[in-house]
Amino acid sequence: MAILKIATLGHPVLREIARPLSREELSSPDTQRFIDDLIETMIDASGAGLAAPQVYRPVRVCAIWVKDNPRYPYKPNFPLTILVNPELTPLTTDTFLNYEGCLSVPNLRGEAPRVTHLRVRAWDRHGADLDFEVKGLTAGTFQHECDHLDGKVFVDRVVDTRSLTTWADFERYHLAGFAERARAIVAKYGA
Ligand code: ZN
Repeated sequence: MAILKIATLGHPVLREIARPLSREELSSPDTQRFIDDLIETMIDASGAGLAAPQVYRPVRVCAIWVKDNPRYPYKPNFPLTILVNPELTPLTTDTFLNYEGCLSVPNLRGEAPRVTHLRVRAWDRHGADLDFEVKGLTAGTFQHECDHLDGKVFVDRVVDTRSLTTWADFERYHLAGFAERARAIVAKYGA
């Protein structure tokens, strides 16, 4: 396994529409090794998720794993999940403001509105069908990662640019307020 280099904002690969994988390509040793590397890179960088275009491979694959994440202490844990060719369907029009960061956007956070309840359909890394629902902060994470497959970055979603902040100033001025809102979201939608 290997730690991959992460593309940062401005690199064109982050703006590509990623292409779907066929079952044959997914099952190839090269793709399976790539998925192992994607997971290892996400863990190494303490990400809550990582999408293939962020490591210079514009295919529709992303990894999500939240386990006591130090970058996002208020995020509920979510088991390691690989999504291949995912489709997200909103199950509500309700949104919340999610204070997001991104491994491809160093030292910046901002508030992006996200739908609070989604249906997720995808293949897992072995091509088996996944079909489940996610809510609240977890739904925010899924929307963030799947946006990367469509060439979108969270800063595109930020409505109030006054919410943009460095990580140090997030902790200094915004963390307490957002952690309180996050607790309310977790209480309402579950962890
Ligand atoms: Zn990201």
